[in-house]
Amino acid sequence: MRNKIRYFIRSKLLPNSLFLIDGKKESKSLYLTFDDGPVQGITENLLDLLDKYQVKATFFIIGQCAKSNPEIIKEIHHRGHKLANHTYTHPAFHKISLPEKINEITSTNTLIKELTNENCKIFRAPQGRWDLKLLMHLFRLKITAVHWSRDSMDFRKEPPAKIVKRLIDEPVKSGDILLFHDDDSRCIEVLETLIPYWQSQGFSINALENK
Ligand SMILES: [Zn+2]
Repeated sequence: MRNKIRYFIRSKLLPNSLFLIDGKKESKSLYLTFDDGPVQGITENLLDLLDKYQVKATFFIIGQCAKSNPEIIKEIHHRGHKLANHTYTHPAFHKISLPEKINEITSTNTLIKELTNENCKIFRAPQGRWDLKLLMHLFRLKITAVHWSRDSMDFRKEPPAKIVKRLIDEPVKSGDILLFHDDDSRCIEVLETLIPYWQSQGFSINALENK
């Protein structure tokens, strides 16, 4: 099954309304995505950095972190970024049942609705562990599954300069969905260099849109 999904991901056979691996390419756009927050002392600083360069991003939040930091969630929303669902407890998704997965998704969507009055229509599975049953269920709920096309690998906790170098040596392309994590301040240091670099190349940096 995993191989089957990998095949789908590689071949991009699934329609964008069901499974998104990259965004709109026409207007030289990049899409920053941040997983595993919000985290006090990091996410607020990241929001300030994004404001500094006037860019919008998508935050794949963990419900239980949002529950402990409701003000940060409201701030993300207030500053015009997109809130997206990354489960309630970040479990190993390949080890739990479909009803458990759905419960994880529903709990976080309910919380986002309570805090922002928005219906969340974007979801990313922990570690990008998708399966077809889950994808079909999300489709029925009209929720778009969002993967990524470039992984910053910031989870490896390498020196920020190394992450920057990798993303410059292998250039981003229009439509790329970039994966970062705001449970570590490294992403801020990396993007303090990369956002102005990408902007100087003519890229605009936007939040993902609901399909
Ligand atoms: Zn995650």
